[in-house]
Amino acid sequence: MNEINRWAASLDGAKIPGGCEDCDAFQTLHVIDRGLTRINIHHDDWCPTYRRMRPASGLPDQPAAGGAR
Ligand SMILES: [Zn+2]
Repeated sequence: MNEINRWAASLDGAKIPGGCEDCDAFQTLHVIDRGLTRINIHHDDWCPTYRRMRPASGLPDQPAAGGAR
């Protein structure tokens, strides 16, 4: 394991405050493989930004763009 991988592995599961201007969000960092990392942002349930990112519940998914007309 090289220095960068060791450094990345040490961050696995790290919880980082912030990540959203609208709520008291935090981020978690996940090391997937060989320094490839994923950061998840955890918003509060009421966060307007979070709600904008989620499809409206109870509505069917939008058809894919570029469909036949
Ligand atoms: Zn948020």
